[in-house]
Amino acid sequence: MPRIAGHVQAEELELYCLGGLTEVRCARVEEHLFLCDICRERLLQAENYAGAMAEAGRRWNGEHRDEPVAVAAVGRSWLGRLAPMLIAALLLVSVLAWFSRHSAVPAPAPFSVELAAVRGAAAGQAPAGRPLLLELDLTGLGDGQPFAGEVVDSAGSRVARFPVAARAALHALPPGGYFVRVYKASGELLREYALTVQP
Ligand SMILES: [Zn+2]
Repeated sequence: MPRIAGHVQAEELELYCLGGLTEVRCARVEEHLFLCDICRERLLQAENYAGAMAEAGRRWNGEHRDEPVAVAAVGRSWLGRLAPMLIAALLLVSVLAWFSRHSAVPAPAPFSVELAAVRGAAAGQAPAGRPLLLELDLTGLGDGQPFAGEVVDSAGSRVARFPVAARAALHALPPGGYFVRVYKASGELLREYALTVQP
């Protein structure tokens, strides 16, 4: 609790509300309260707070009346006064968890992009932020051969590798120009397709 210079400290005010001050300290607090509007206002708030906590504690005890005595006794301790807040906090956490589970944005559907093998063909166009399904024109490459595929960006850095099939799944790519390459198992470059990912 914040300490306020020259005024009754918050802890002391709270103890005063709960009747937990010695007579001397009590008199000192009352003397200050008599002179200080600010602390009278604070006392009022502290009393409301203590009252609300006591009320919540009573309700909590009422709801747990048939539980063992040890638990009921806790209701009169500090932990007991905190219990309603703890329950509220737990409720909040579970509500938040429920929301995050049920309002999760579904993963975007893959975007199919056809890549033509013809030299000079227009680049395949795909949107950024969506997984891609590359539809590769593999005609003339021979069936049953193992191929390796890779995607390089315009600077020539590899950004993905994939097992080559007529339809190859690929993770989402940032906007930019790419080349999709298909290699023979021996490493010989067989085919190159242009791919443009739009922002
Ligand atoms: Zn004061």
